[in-house]
Amino acid sequence: MEREILNPLENAQLQIKKACEALNLHPSIYKLLKEPKRLVEISIPVKMDDGSIEVFKGYRSLHNDALGPGKGGIRFHPNVTADEVKALSIWMTFKGCVAGVPFGGAKGGVTVDPKKLSMTELERLARGYVRELYDYLGEKIDIPAPDMGTNAQIMGWMIDEYMNISGKSDTGTFTGKPIEFGGSKGRVEATGFGVAIIARETIKKLGLKMENTTFTLQGFGNVGSYTAKYVQDMGGKVVGIALRDCAIYNPKGLDYEDMVKHLKTNKNLSNYPKADKIPLDEFWELNVDVFIPAAIENAIDAEIAKKINVKLICEGANGPTTPDGDTILKERGIVVTPDILTNCGGVIVSYFEWVQNLYKHFWFSDEVVARQEVAMVNAFNDIWDVVEKYKVTFREAAYMSSIKKLEEVMRLRGWIQ
Ligand code: NAD
Repeated sequence: MEREILNPLENAQLQIKKACEALNLHPSIYKLLKEPKRLVEISIPVKMDDGSIEVFKGYRSLHNDALGPGKGGIRFHPNVTADEVKALSIWMTFKGCVAGVPFGGAKGGVTVDPKKLSMTELERLARGYVRELYDYLGEKIDIPAPDMGTNAQIMGWMIDEYMNISGKSDTGTFTGKPIEFGGSKGRVEATGFGVAIIARETIKKLGLKMENTTFTLQGFGNVGSYTAKYVQDMGGKVVGIALRDCAIYNPKGLDYEDMVKHLKTNKNLSNYPKADKIPLDEFWELNVDVFIPAAIENAIDAEIAKKINVKLICEGANGPTTPDGDTILKERGIVVTPDILTNCGGVIVSYFEWVQNLYKHFWFSDEVVARQEVAMVNAFNDIWDVVEKYKVTFREAAYMSSIKKLEEVMRLRGWIQ
């Protein structure tokens, strides 16, 4: 097989095209959706601790705001490019539609390795990003959040910079903030909790029982670890976790609390004593019911898709399956719940945070959890109806359902005839 083209923008555009064709939509819909409404490119000068100046490239893409203000994270990573940010903003538009939140799609990024910056340099970079993009952000314009390489502390600096310029307490301009400073309870756990809910609902539809279901994961960061926690709470058994260079495996099950305890004293899980360390080749061939990628993009390419030995894949990470990998999984009858459905718990609780900020009225943890559960199950059922009606995959259904919704709103707004 030829080497795949893995430009994320081309992949995102292909997904839109396929869904528009499946729905037999007018070609103008594809034209409207294939590129973001705007991409702002900035240069951010940062005074480094040694007195020198570094200039970092930054981006903010607003793909579509038919349903509401833009929403999407800010990524600090050395591989950030304009095309990647554009693609991620497209996926955010569809994720917002699937999640049923009143947001359009947006994404931002800075080409930087944050691990190479000191805390003070990181703070200056975060503040510089906001100063350059101030006019394009706002709680009713475009609302960023954390993504790879950014976190609640960085959101804290960013919203502080934003409010210094605006002179107003518009905390709803950023989500994923620290709880003490306008963040929502339940946001940190939200994506992993949502992944576990989607896995549970799909398992039911496949006629399986959570108590008899085995899981493997890739990654044990925010999404991976909380997915493991909630899968375990719901009765499932996590037996293996792929790390960067190896995997850990215990057919009797890996205990979430115990792994977190181990991580507190040891930097990684590869030396976790209650599991066998196995090579990644062996990991991919493990015979389990569900695999949850929760780390990186393009993890399941054609080669992995041919050998993976599971019934169901729930995409916790963004874009973990390549287009060729996806085709092979479909041919092999492996069910895949796509990222825009599976990991939409993060954007749902970000929406809750925004609502709480606008009303300056904060909810209890139980309220957040209960509302997220209802929103996720509704999102799942909406997509399941399309899967059944059109006999398509979950991914095809998720894109078809979101594009239909967008098309209706754009028509009502007079953007298309
Ligand atoms: P994170 O940085 O907290 O965790 C990622 C983990 O993956 C880290 O522990 C890292 O060591 C590990 N990792 C990196 N490369 C790996 C590899 N090749 N094999 C195995 N493990 C590897 O990030 P996160 O927030 O958990 O995000 C993970 C994925 O989920 C990303 O694709 C992200 O875009 C997506 N996502 C995150 C959220 C959220 O709320 N955090 C929401 C939606 C989607």
